[in-house]
Amino acid sequence: MAALAALLEIAGLEVRFGPVRAVDGVSLDVAPGPFGLGLVGESGSGKSTIGRAVLRLVPAAAGQIRFDGADVAGLSGRELRDYRRAVQIVFQDPDNTLDPRMRVGAAIAEALAAHGIVPRREAGPRVRELLEEVGLDPDFASRYPHQLSGGQRQRVAIARALSVRPRMLVLDEPTSALDVRAQARILELIGSLRAERRLAYLLITHNLAVVSELCEQIAVLYLGRVAESGPTAELLAAPAHPYTRALRSAVPEIAASARSTRIVLHGEPPDATNPPSGCVFHPRCPVAIERCAVESPSLRAIAPGRLVACHRAEEVLAGIEMPERPGTVESGTELSVAGSSDAEPSDAEPSDAVQPGAAQPAPPPKG
Ligand code: SF4
Repeated sequence: MAALAALLEIAGLEVRFGPVRAVDGVSLDVAPGPFGLGLVGESGSGKSTIGRAVLRLVPAAAGQIRFDGADVAGLSGRELRDYRRAVQIVFQDPDNTLDPRMRVGAAIAEALAAHGIVPRREAGPRVRELLEEVGLDPDFASRYPHQLSGGQRQRVAIARALSVRPRMLVLDEPTSALDVRAQARILELIGSLRAERRLAYLLITHNLAVVSELCEQIAVLYLGRVAESGPTAELLAAPAHPYTRALRSAVPEIAASARSTRIVLHGEPPDATNPPSGCVFHPRCPVAIERCAVESPSLRAIAPGRLVACHRAEEVLAGIEMPERPGTVESGTELSVAGSSDAEPSDAEPSDAVQPGAAQPAPPPKG
């Protein structure tokens, strides 16, 4: 996939939760930065689980993850510490990272000290630099997380991740809990940081428009498997998998330049404990044929750098009509990915947020 030797290589990754194969034989590469790989799919597609497996937050049942040539599963001691510094995660909800009882500056200083970047007592100036780098007033160092808007808290979480000079970020839906204005600002920040810091990242999202802006490569996941992958611009201009075509058709900014009209998929993603036979997408696929119900399509190359798992990929690529199926319902809200509907009601920043000089109420108790 990537032109350069990969920084992160995922080969045949499987992650199981009891009987569920949350990730089922996924192989992906992330090139050295500046580089972005977007993982796209609905809830339950396995995209966040892949990010967590990369960070060793969930165990792999099979397959291998290599970072800079080293097998991540085999790391321990100093090497594991170095890896945990080199690969940082930014969660959807910054409150997963920030302790509500700890002032913002102390939270960043803690990360700096934990990885031996700067002794805690000398961390102040570096903390202020980092806050500035992510577009916040350095005086925010004295605030508690609850005194910031959601977008500002996410900036602090990014500053904390950057503080240890990572080589790669796992960005797990970093904007989907924010309102549209805050989303745009965080995305702009990610775009500028990737160039300035030569960052590589795995961007996990349900938002194709975000991937089209920030990622060179894209992998579309469905029920724990790669449905399609390749260079972002090429893949979005001409998807070869019906699922990708449906996803794309739900994004006006992308679909406007394409041939297709809105494709609404029938039904919900299948039960992962009892996946469909054959192609796992066949119960929802508008162009499924008999073969699809009995034969699982393998992931195969259809053009340089492009892989797809569909028996009818060539026809989809050629622009096959996608008829609505009988009983089709408007269940495409999860696919309506532009202008996310799962935003906080209000997340204005920074003008209408609490200002740095404001009184500092006591932090709320944890939990
Ligand atoms: Fe649809 Fe068949 Fe292709 Fe699966 S293999 S995506 S069911 S056409």
